[in-house]
Amino acid sequence: MLKKFSTFFLILTFTFSIFALTNQAVPENYVPLVESAEKINAKVYFDPLSYSCMLQKNGNVYSFRIDDEIAVLNFRQFKAIDRPIKVNNQIFVSQSMIDDANLLFLQKKVDENFRIGVILIDPGHGGKDPGTVGNVVKNGKKQHLYEKDIVLSVGNELASMLRMKYPDKRIIMTRSTDVYLTLEQRVDIANSVKLEENEAVIYISIHANSSFKSDASGFEVWYLSPGYRRNVIGEKDVDADLRPILNSMLEEEYTTESILMAKFIHDGLDKQIGSVSKSRGLKAEEWFVVRNSYMPSVLVEVGFVSNSSEAYNLSEPSYLHKITVGLYNGVGSFVTHFEQSRGFTTFQ
Ligand SMILES: [Zn+2]
Repeated sequence: MLKKFSTFFLILTFTFSIFALTNQAVPENYVPLVESAEKINAKVYFDPLSYSCMLQKNGNVYSFRIDDEIAVLNFRQFKAIDRPIKVNNQIFVSQSMIDDANLLFLQKKVDENFRIGVILIDPGHGGKDPGTVGNVVKNGKKQHLYEKDIVLSVGNELASMLRMKYPDKRIIMTRSTDVYLTLEQRVDIANSVKLEENEAVIYISIHANSSFKSDASGFEVWYLSPGYRRNVIGEKDVDADLRPILNSMLEEEYTTESILMAKFIHDGLDKQIGSVSKSRGLKAEEWFVVRNSYMPSVLVEVGFVSNSSEAYNLSEPSYLHKITVGLYNGVGSFVTHFEQSRGFTTFQ
């Protein structure tokens, strides 16, 4: 989401700084951000919509926002700073903030081993809750097709493939048998995942679709909407006034990760089943299972049991295997991306 300062933008800023008349006084101890970052060889990123800024060097990241008196260091620690200001399209920060950032940059690279520690797979429904129910004709016999069975089969195979690929990660399932779980129980499982400091958990919920329109078909991948407010910073950690600011700064990162994981999974599925099941695209939604911090999350609708030909496909183990391979490849791409970028997409 954050865009790198382009050369064009730099030139523009420079021109402004020469010709623009300042209508707001810049305090004496303040310095222009871009020039100061250049002096310490740090990269500057700025998002004009949210007014978020980042300084980056040596894998260390110093984030702050115009008008907010707080900085986030390496997405973990926070610190009071002098209020960054924008005067005639130029950003000014205090020299002491630059010095503070520079201290951070002198540190050894942190989070070098930032990794996905846990993959949480959540097959929807189960037990007394069948999910959506369709009909298929097999060998001349009509039989029911239950969403709970489709998603459990995909979930179980996905889990065993991921366990083979990642013996050092914990692959957790909310259910691996035909049992009923309340939403609260799913939430509890998600929240009870224990992580090391440098670990993240990803969450994949699997469902099948249904529609009154019998010709509706295809797969879709949902990610958490940016409007979903997670309590990333806990109550004890920081002053109540600052919590919303910090949370929204951090939240942007998780949303970005969720969208990216949704995209990888979507592309993985498209490759496997796109020729027989059309993509209905990426969609944003809020949902309530996911409350943990550092949890990029997606929900996959693998197809429509209400569509007779798609229902037939979904009743075939070979087709479910293709879906699983699509999910597996998508998750694998995301894990690789996440661990290589140390968890954050901003600097790709
Ligand atoms: Zn469902």
